[in-house]
Amino acid sequence: MTNRPDLPAEIARRRTFAIISHPDAGKTTLTEKFLLFGGAIQMAGQVRAKGEARRTRSDFMQMEKDRGISVSASAMSFDYKHFRYNLVDTPGHSDFSEDTYRTLTAVDAAVMVIDGAKGVESQTQKLFEVCRLRDLPILTFCNKMDRESRDTFEIIDEIQENLAIDVTPASWPIGVGRDFIGCYDILRDRLDIMDRADRNKVAESVEINGMDDPKWEEHVPAHLLAKFREDIEMAKELLPTLDPKAVLEGTMTPIWFGSAVNSFGVRELMEGIANFGPEPQPQTAQPRTIMPEEKNVAGFVFKVQANMDPKHRDRVAFVRMASGHFTRGMKLTHVRTKKPMAISNPVLFLASDRELAEEAWAGDIIGIPNHGQLRIGDTLTTGEMLQVKGIPSFAPELLQGVRAGDPLKSKHLEKALMQFAEEGAAKVFKPSFGSGFIVGVVGPLQFEVLASRIELEYGLPVRFEQSQFTSARWVSGDKDAVEKFSAANKQHIGTDSDGDTVYLTRLQWDIDRVGRDYPDVSLTATKEMM
Ligand code: GDP
Repeated sequence: MTNRPDLPAEIARRRTFAIISHPDAGKTTLTEKFLLFGGAIQMAGQVRAKGEARRTRSDFMQMEKDRGISVSASAMSFDYKHFRYNLVDTPGHSDFSEDTYRTLTAVDAAVMVIDGAKGVESQTQKLFEVCRLRDLPILTFCNKMDRESRDTFEIIDEIQENLAIDVTPASWPIGVGRDFIGCYDILRDRLDIMDRADRNKVAESVEINGMDDPKWEEHVPAHLLAKFREDIEMAKELLPTLDPKAVLEGTMTPIWFGSAVNSFGVRELMEGIANFGPEPQPQTAQPRTIMPEEKNVAGFVFKVQANMDPKHRDRVAFVRMASGHFTRGMKLTHVRTKKPMAISNPVLFLASDRELAEEAWAGDIIGIPNHGQLRIGDTLTTGEMLQVKGIPSFAPELLQGVRAGDPLKSKHLEKALMQFAEEGAAKVFKPSFGSGFIVGVVGPLQFEVLASRIELEYGLPVRFEQSQFTSARWVSGDKDAVEKFSAANKQHIGTDSDGDTVYLTRLQWDIDRVGRDYPDVSLTATKEMM
């Protein structure tokens, strides 16, 4: 199933996606089973990045310590049947939502995991809305069907209503909770029976010939069968049938029911991603769109992770390949600086190991170790100077002042802060008045992680303290107007880590006033990264 028969086969077989879910719905477990079926790990249980999902500070710090795991968990590639899957991880905690947003710029589709007992939860809703902004195709997995779960129609209704998307069942559960025996695979007319004894075993699958096949009675107890038949009749009447085009356009989501921990429904979902998920998509760029099949190689940085090895201050830039066939050693032009860069040691994230990437195609994610040249939003290419668009930076919602425990170390602190700003872990502003820095984040947990990392990676104890400002806005407009505005509002002006002018304030009233008094200047809450 492809809408681009002209794509080179290597590109057409790629599926690059992320999983969106509320903490505890089963994202980690599902990822593990993907890798298990993808042959990347021998036994489930090897990827234990954050198993018991209590998202506390120590979890994040542990992940920071275990850099190996958190890095390979950032992007994972595996093969299943003749498809190559690239799974890009999104941070589960809402405090890291900016990171999540950027991650979603690097994928072509999302798998939405919901808990069958809980339905659409708050974090799922938020992430879904981000996907909607980009019209990303979404495939839904309703997990934990081995437990007491809600009525199937109720779950489908809730998704349709809360998320305003058509839902079409790809499978249908038979029995609930302890009585759950498996699913009817609507797309293939098969009955899949769950094995509760062996959690890593693939379900027994029975071919069925329509609703009247006598095999139903053989496998399904009479009282479950009656209810199931009634359900399926009603589903046929009330719910839309699968329309692959609507799925690709992001207006319809197919839903599979399963149990990740029992490996049930996972392979059907993987095949669904292959059959109904999009191949690598065109990438919006200036001055023109990049097509995946172009001969020239192009890719963009959507994430930077620093200090993976505290002994060498190295960083890895995560690059989504947008076009062409990349091979190791290739010389790419770094568009922002117009300098050539030989990419001699790129990393491909094959499951839990980091391996040298010999080649990568449009759709793949590679890691490029560097010393800070590569920033979020940067484009690399063998062709003309194209700049990928649509990777935003958001004004932080929380601001705090930061000081080094030892005042003599403030230069040192500046270096550390700039590093984290480039990594996208925080915004750093230098007010033009007075000394010190102001750090801005989206969620409070980020301050704690930052303080610990500065101490751990730079040996520098720091103190965060209340700032006189609570909001920051980027200032743009005509150069003279901006200069005039800055001169008249000196005590509110600062610069960000790129040297761009920001307006700092505590009052929304101030922001409104600027709008009225300086019609030539605009204050914005987002900025394009490049
Ligand atoms: P995450 O926070 O979304 O990554 O969720 P996890 O994968 O860590 O799962 C949260 C909890 O739910 C863990 O205790 C899992 O063992 C459990 N879990 C995951 N999938 C299933 C399932 O299909 N059935 C049941 N009963 N529990 C599950």
